[in-house]
Amino acid sequence: MLPIVRVEPVNVESRVVSWLVGALRSMLNTDVVAGRGVSLSKVIAYYDEERGQIRADLLVEELARELAPMPVVLIDADAYVEGLNFVFGIAKPGWGGIVFLARLRPEYYGHPPSERVLLERLLKEAVHELGHALGLEHCRTPRCVMRFSNSILEVDAKSHLFCAACAHKLHLMYPGLLR
Ligand SMILES: [Zn+2]
Ligand SMILES: [Zn+2]
Repeated sequence: MLPIVRVEPVNVESRVVSWLVGALRSMLNTDVVAGRGVSLSKVIAYYDEERGQIRADLLVEELARELAPMPVVLIDADAYVEGLNFVFGIAKPGWGGIVFLARLRPEYYGHPPSERVLLERLLKEAVHELGHALGLEHCRTPRCVMRFSNSILEVDAKSHLFCAACAHKLHLMYPGLLR
């Protein structure tokens, strides 16, 4: 059975949520819906005040205990995991993922705000974390959405699409999921 994908906002505008729902629907042959969201207080509990970042690896475990598969949680904040300065997102295979928006915004890098750029990056990271949630690992194909991104330049360099090999793996696990 194909998983129902729910976009679950924490502190993200409903316009952004609706856009992402639409973009994912155009890629996936399954139900994609906007969820009821997650309360900010749940997330704040994992906020590291010294770093000004959310501890993503602990938060994902907490949310996985509370939310049924297969959510994409959107949080407008910066995050990290032990051993990394920051992460754009995190996933738990078989469950879902979280995307952190702070570093997807052009203004984070001193550029003028652009919703188009933010949404493009958000789609890539949402599909990337969904790919992990569905069982895919990182891929070395340059434009593949499953390529690991360690900087915003690497996010911008890849596409929001799966390469042929990743699409084939997804098809074996979830026949008919990709449009
Ligand atoms: Zn990844
Ligand atoms: Zn790939």
